[in-house]
Amino acid sequence: MVKTARIALNRPLRRLFDYRIPDGMKLHPGQRVRIPFGRQQAIGLVTDTNSTPVPGITLKPVSSALEEWPALPEETFKLLSWASSYYQHPLGECLFTALPPALRRGRPAHEKHEQWWKAAGDASQIPANAKKQQALHDWLSGEDNGAPTSNILNKGFSRAQLKSLTERGLVLECAPPEQTTTGQDHSEHGAPKLSSAQARAASELPLPEDGFSASLLYGITGSGKTELYLYYLKQNLAPQKQALVLVPEINLTPQTVARFRRYFGSRVVVWHSALNDGERLSTWLRIRNGDPIILIGTRSSVLLPFTGLQTIIVDEEHDSSYKQGEGFRYSGRDLAVYRAHLNHCPVILGSATPSLESYQNASQGKYNLIKLEQRAGKATSPTVSLLDIRSRPLEGGLSRPALDSIKQTLQNGEQALVFVNRRGFAPVMMCFDCGHTLECPRCDSRLTYHRRDRAMRCHHCDYQTAATDHCPECHSDAFKPVGQGTERTEEVLSATFTDTPVVRVDRDSTQRKGSIQKILDQVNSGTPCVLVGTQMLAKGHDFPNVTLVVVVNADGGLFSVDFRAPEQLVQTVLQVSGRAGRGEKAGQVIIQTCHSDHPLLKALCHGKYLELADQLLNERRAGQFPPFRSMTIFRAEASTMEKSLQALDTIKAMTQVPGIETWGPLPALIARRAEKHRAQLILNANNRKLLNALLSKICNELDQKKWPSDLRWMIDVDPQET
Ligand code: ADP
Ligand code: ZN
Ligand code: ZN
Repeated sequence: MVKTARIALNRPLRRLFDYRIPDGMKLHPGQRVRIPFGRQQAIGLVTDTNSTPVPGITLKPVSSALEEWPALPEETFKLLSWASSYYQHPLGECLFTALPPALRRGRPAHEKHEQWWKAAGDASQIPANAKKQQALHDWLSGEDNGAPTSNILNKGFSRAQLKSLTERGLVLECAPPEQTTTGQDHSEHGAPKLSSAQARAASELPLPEDGFSASLLYGITGSGKTELYLYYLKQNLAPQKQALVLVPEINLTPQTVARFRRYFGSRVVVWHSALNDGERLSTWLRIRNGDPIILIGTRSSVLLPFTGLQTIIVDEEHDSSYKQGEGFRYSGRDLAVYRAHLNHCPVILGSATPSLESYQNASQGKYNLIKLEQRAGKATSPTVSLLDIRSRPLEGGLSRPALDSIKQTLQNGEQALVFVNRRGFAPVMMCFDCGHTLECPRCDSRLTYHRRDRAMRCHHCDYQTAATDHCPECHSDAFKPVGQGTERTEEVLSATFTDTPVVRVDRDSTQRKGSIQKILDQVNSGTPCVLVGTQMLAKGHDFPNVTLVVVVNADGGLFSVDFRAPEQLVQTVLQVSGRAGRGEKAGQVIIQTCHSDHPLLKALCHGKYLELADQLLNERRAGQFPPFRSMTIFRAEASTMEKSLQALDTIKAMTQVPGIETWGPLPALIARRAEKHRAQLILNANNRKLLNALLSKICNELDQKKWPSDLRWMIDVDPQET
């Protein structure tokens, strides 16, 4: 009897491939193998070893197993298989996301021992024109332990420069520093001291030994959720076990990692997109080996091959960055809950503004709801007020009363934070003579003016062009910026408060490595300053001396067509507001609006998120939106709108079954993006299982179809954006 193995490849193919297992080779699901594929060799992952061979077909043999153990242990393999069928993404690509890049390429699963280098001798021996060699020698002289080759290359130096220096004897190979990778808890800190409110919440959290449970920790901003996580892990995580702490974006909040390190020392390990291939491999191996680490990571870390996972925490669980926006479009938060179920361990979802999905699960009793409604320490909740700006003159988007409040705050020796929802100087350039506006030639969107580098940029594709002072249509010089961006508000604030630092925080100002740390250091020094920034400022920061928050304009989300817009508006405003008054001094929040009588904004002032969430859930129920029904979107893009709509019409015809309601196909909100015409078809279903079965069937059929070569279709299950 021939033994066969079914194998998945890292390709966008829904099908798997059968191979013969040579005599004497033992294979298990999740194991890496090398196989002949076409004329090449490919790396595959075994999915099944009991497949029945089709009679009469001779199968090629597996060439070799890359290691004897499965790279993906059982729970990880099950998680990814489930995710593949839930999100309708090809199994091979799902499985391979759990491997570090080196292992995807077939490299051995052990650490490469890198060469380390240190500077020696006298730099004056380097020829004067060899500036880069001098720079390398200089830099290396400052690294006390020396540096590995990969760091030297990452710093922008070349192997040739390194070689010249070693030949001159100015750089020598040296031993790598001793690593402390025992996963031991090296910190001298015991568990943090909790307030009575925190202690009550802690006592309601289920213990790891009780097996699977999901808890929603609703803790207002500054209530000390992070402190509670630290306490929970300190008390309950067994010394030999692993924990996973998911965070939306690590680079923005280095203080979270620092706080964990203070309590758990080198047991804390991070996982995020800025790690290099070597770091990824070594961290992956530690996770796979079951090293007793606490991994703090972004969404993809939920897919890693933990073998001793005992607790999962999802911080800021409402954050939209948990949803992957392209390719394998999974929700890291939702997979965390499923993973906890597979691993028989608790998962804690924490937020001051829980997603309506999680809150609904809690209301239905599927999740424990644990409330923490007092601020920790001496801090009190900020007062929130609406400031109607109709017919008020604005400067950089700021009204006189708002500017006066900022002035007062600075005079008190405190810090202010100004939230603007757009980066750049102004979202539109318009001619006041002929009305012309500058649009992106590749998208249906306007170009944003970036004054700092005098560029007009599209925020939907990578198009940019130089800014002009004159209208390109009528040459009038009345060609002016309209609306607010962070740069413009920053400029007005700098001009108004000349002796106070004004710090801008947005994607443009934080691109360079280390820039966010500089900004945080400035704020944490506590001296008066004004922070101006986008959403980035809403994310989990703890700024004790910020006492005033100004929201420049909250109206964008009030009338949007996106069903999630009101939820996101409320979450963003409450999250930025939560940066005020976290220390001993009371905080104040001013929301500028043209709709001060809007019920949602009025309700925001009372700051009771769960009451708002109940209201928003009622609206979702009335409109039959998620979480009351399951939603899936098919998207199509092509060189013409007609082709995209046609493809979706074909798909729509396949969805005409009872229990499924379809909306569309319709052009997407930004119908043309990077020269592609985009459309979407929305499916709604009362029954998730029914929908899932239908989607699998449709996706398989769609794969068989001949599409125009420029057409791409995509499926997005539980979409974050419509
Ligand atoms: P959250 O994550 O809920 O926004 P944090 O855990 O960041 O809140 O806590 C907010 C602030 O309160 C931090 O400065 C933290 O050090 C402080 N804090 C938290 N718990 C306590 C406590 N039990 N006693 C004193 N200060 C605390
Ligand atoms: Zn004009
Ligand atoms: Zn564009």
